[in-house]
Amino acid sequence: MKIVVAVKRVIDYNVKIRVKSDGSGVDTGNVKMAMNPFDEIAVEEAIRLKEKGKASEVVAVTIGPAKATDILHNALAMGADRGLLVETDDKIEPLAAAKILMSIVIEEQADLVLVGKQAIDDDCNQTGQMLAGLLGWPQGTFASRLVVGEKTAGVSREIDGGSQVVALKMPCVITTDLGLNEPRYLSVPKIIAARKKPIETRSLANFPVDLTPRVKTISVGEPAPRQPGEILRSPIELAVRLKNDLGAL
Ligand code: AMP
Repeated sequence: MKIVVAVKRVIDYNVKIRVKSDGSGVDTGNVKMAMNPFDEIAVEEAIRLKEKGKASEVVAVTIGPAKATDILHNALAMGADRGLLVETDDKIEPLAAAKILMSIVIEEQADLVLVGKQAIDDDCNQTGQMLAGLLGWPQGTFASRLVVGEKTAGVSREIDGGSQVVALKMPCVITTDLGLNEPRYLSVPKIIAARKKPIETRSLANFPVDLTPRVKTISVGEPAPRQPGEILRSPIELAVRLKNDLGAL
């Protein structure tokens, strides 16, 4: 079984985002970038399947600038076998990403595609669903548990109020949620050893995909500042406050 994992380079989740002064977007200059956290979970799951003998090869794919090889190196250090960068400096919306990933998945003859449930830069939560739709494959979104059999995949999905279990025929697309696993720690020797693993770079021009934006961003702004909290000195004061505030509702 061959697994393709899609990994996106995004601003590190620890970074405090700065909005550009003209409101046209987020400032990414000199900002720490990292693999999208949901994609780390996808890589971890793929590697666990390989370690259990269920997968023969794990290929990590990213679409982005030349610098995005950094996250491919991380995927390889985690245990992926090969990396593929589709190089572009253009903004890639989910539909374009899904079309590019579709070409790669078909070419690689993948049996399973693991994708993050959403990229934390645009929070679209669309690429995996669109990819499955384009391929005509079943999809298991928001996976918190994955059990892979011979030709089927059992997926527990995080849904409002609980979880839903679905059985999918393979090949299929799975999007990963937080509860699926905890990605492994990357040791320096593993990072160094992974430098020997292959990364192929292809130009976006190899993929005949219409990049015309489907979404127009009108403005980007800071969230409204939060009201400061208040420390009350006793439970009685809290009870009085609640009574007064609720009474006012
Ligand atoms: P989104 O639909 O933008 O929230 O992204 C969902 C998932 O699709 C991400 O977690 C990635 O696994 C994958 N994805 C989206 N854009 C890219 C990209 N440029 N390169 C690689 N994978 C991507």
